[in-house]
Parts: sequence; structure tokens; C-alpha cells
Amino acid sequence: MLSTEPRVQENLSYPYLPPQNSPQTSLSPNQQLLPLTAKINDRDRLEIGGCDVTALVEQFGSPLYIVDELTLRTTCAQYRDAFATYYPGTSQVIYASKAWSCLAICAIVASENLGFDVVSGGELYTTLKAGGNPETIYFHGNNKSREELSFALDRGCTIIVDNRFELEMLCDVAAHRPHPARMMIRLTPGIECHTHEYIRTGHIDSKFGFDPTQLQDIFTFIAQKPQLNCIGLHAHIGSQIFERQPHQDLAGVLVDWMEKAIACGLPIAELNIGGGLGIRYTESDDPPSIDEWVKAACNAIVKACQTKGLPLPKLLAEPGRSLVGSSCITAYTVGSSKVVPGIRTYIAVDGGMSDNPRPITYQSVYRAVLANRMSAPPSETVTVAGKHCESGDIVLKDAHLPPTQPGDILAILATGAYNYSMASNYNRLSRPAAVVVREGLASLILERETYEDLVRQDRLPEHLALPPKE
Ligand SMILES: *Cc1c(COP(=O)(O)O)cnc(C)c1O
Repeated sequence: MLSTEPRVQENLSYPYLPPQNSPQTSLSPNQQLLPLTAKINDRDRLEIGGCDVTALVEQFGSPLYIVDELTLRTTCAQYRDAFATYYPGTSQVIYASKAWSCLAICAIVASENLGFDVVSGGELYTTLKAGGNPETIYFHGNNKSREELSFALDRGCTIIVDNRFELEMLCDVAAHRPHPARMMIRLTPGIECHTHEYIRTGHIDSKFGFDPTQLQDIFTFIAQKPQLNCIGLHAHIGSQIFERQPHQDLAGVLVDWMEKAIACGLPIAELNIGGGLGIRYTESDDPPSIDEWVKAACNAIVKACQTKGLPLPKLLAEPGRSLVGSSCITAYTVGSSKVVPGIRTYIAVDGGMSDNPRPITYQSVYRAVLANRMSAPPSETVTVAGKHCESGDIVLKDAHLPPTQPGDILAILATGAYNYSMASNYNRLSRPAAVVVREGLASLILERETYEDLVRQDRLPEHLALPPKE
């Protein structure tokens, strides 16, 4: 295991620095724009994990996802250590693998003793293949299939039941098995968070989980089913959250329901508070540290249990974005440009919405640095466009950058979460390669797709095949 001491970004003299008012060493990875090992080398280039980003692009091609192993491991360790510090009972941090599911990322996370949340047979398969321990794998989803339920039960995973339809299907699937199905109940807590917006009342209009009005009946139903072993309750309230209060309130809601479920005879011993801690995408984002967030959530659970005189449950949290987001950058190569006189200048890169659909989907904002000329002053405002046939395919609007030329390497920061996992082949672009970097060594973790890969699943029925050209 690597050192878990956060590194100081001391020789990074670029505008996107940690806030001046906090000592840099106390910052979590989720509070920084660049991975912990980022520095500018003596060629004035960005270096991550001891590897020159420009040289990585020369070696592995462009665009390229570059994951800093130390940052990812540090983040895992900070979550693990914070729960060990602030929670007097047992706890388990589980990685919401939908943020980035592939063998290498899952293997790193598993080696740090984190568990996994998966939301499909495909994520489950990937996690198992990477060495995830089924005892710490939790299966989510609002429309699991019978096959997915069987697959998860066969492997000994815990099912987080979302709705009545699924519950009845699980009863049926579990009835033919030697052991009762280990399950939790997902509930809609009536707390909803959008970034920078937090509403405590109402907002139970979610497609996920049991509505509170159903819960009492559901508890009673489950208590009568010997094939179900309902060990816990779960709720997840949103993503990219910068406040601590929502999860403190959630603790109270979950403990209330735990008391009621126990009164119905359910052996509730675990509470899962979901994920949602935000990360810094731009200098104006100011999320709490992992430590602060975990501390607030743990204290709230302990307090709520003490008030009710309940024993402490095993406590689970399932971070996704804040676990992988800050450990990765995406390197692109600059190509064409277009000046719209008096309006804006576009510079185009060799990827876009196919490798990062977040800007076009959520109007997400990122920050960029010119990885091959780091100390060049950002003197221009340009819009970084992707290469897809969509006007909305904009990587970054109004970026402050030094003057760029074709061939320059532009790095977009904090792209570890919901980039690769949401990537597509739109316009039949190949999905990029990804490397993990550590102490000067770069290892390929995702092969770049080839043209042949793009047609691999295509089938041409005989009656559609054109005769060979003379
Ligand atoms: C997406 C999701 C998470 C992770 O959310 P982040 O904001 O990425 O931390 C955790 N639990 C559930 C049920 C989710 O759907």
C-alpha cells in the first residue's frame, strides 16, 4: 500500500490552486483540482505520478485518461480511516462503481479493502472479475432482472431492494435456495439535494426506493418471509453535495426507520447512508473534506442511536464521484480553431462528448491546463470544442488559457468520475485508452478501441451484403 499522506502541490504555479486560507496538507483529494502527485517538471510540462503527460500522449495516443494511483489510494484510505476514527461501531466504505467500472480501478479499490455497490449484472461481473469480495458487494437498481438477482445471490452478494415488484421477484427467486437472501431496503428519505440547493421537505418524487407511506407494510411483508434476511436500510440523496447537513438529517431519518423496522421483527443491523460528497471541478467549488463529511455523518448516526437507546448498526457509505473523480485527468490534443469575430474563439480537441458526456448532459464545468507549457500565462479566453457533430459538444466554455497551437496537449482536470463510465461511440469514435501512473511508471488499464472493435458486434445479414466490387 502506498503512503496515504497527502502531498503538497508545492511547485505548481498555475492559477488553479487550492484555496489560500487552508493549509494545503489538510486538503482531501476531492478538494483539489489536480491529482496529489501533480507537478511541473523541468521541461515546463505537467507531470502526474512521475510521468510527463505530454510523453504519455506520445506513447499511448490521444485522448488519454490518466489515473494517479496515489491519489486514488489516498482517497480510499481517507474514507476508511475517517470511519475508523469517528464511528465507534463497525463500518464499511463501498465504492459506487458506476462512477468508473473497469478491472484495474476496481482492483485498486478492492486492494484498499473497500466494498462495492453495483447497479447491473455488468458492473457485478466486472467487480467480481477484478477480485471484489462478494460479502462486501451490494446490488442496487430500480429494475433488476430475475437473472441479475440470481447472479448476485449465487455469488453471495447483498441485494438492496428498491420496490415491491422486485421484492416479490426476490421472494420467488430466494424460495428455491438453501439460504435466505441477504437484503436491505432502499427508502426515499424525503431529502433531496441538488448541488448548492438543499430541500428537506417534500421531494419524495424519485424513481428510487420505497415511498415512506409504503414502508410499514413492506416491513410486515418481509417479516413474514423466511426466505428473506433483511439486514439493513439504505438511502441515497444525491450527488456533488457540498453541505454536511443533508447527511446529518438523513442519519435521523434512517435511525427512525430502523427503530420501526426492528419493532416489526426485522433483524436490522446495517445502515447505508449512500454517497454524494462533491469534488472540486473549478476554483469556486468548495466541498468539505472527506474527513469532515464522514465525521458529520458518523456523529449524527451515533447521536440518533443514543437518543433512541438503539445499538449502533454497522455503518456503510457508498462514495463514487469523490472516490475516483479527482484522481484522473483527460489529455487531449489541440487541432483546428475558429475565430468568430467579436464573439469567441473555438479551439477543437480530438475527443468530446463521447469520452466526457457531462458538459452536454449536465452543463458541467471543468478546468483545463496546457500540459506542455504549464507556466505560459493564461492570456486568452477560448471555448474548447469537441469533434462531434453536435453544436453542444463543448468541452469547456470560456476557458482561460495561454495561446494554443495545433499539437498542444490540453488536460481537463478531475475527470475520473462519470466520464469513462458514461462514454459512448457517438460518431463512431473509439473510446480512449486509460493508463494508471505511479512513481514514473505508466500501465495501460484500458486499451484504445480500434476500428475493428467498432464493428465487432455488427452483423451483416446475407441478403443485405453487397456483391464484391469488380
Ligand atoms: C450514484 C450513487 C452513489 C454514488 O454517488 P456519488 O455522488 O458519485 O458519490 C451512491 N449510491 C447510489 C445508490 C447511487 O445511485
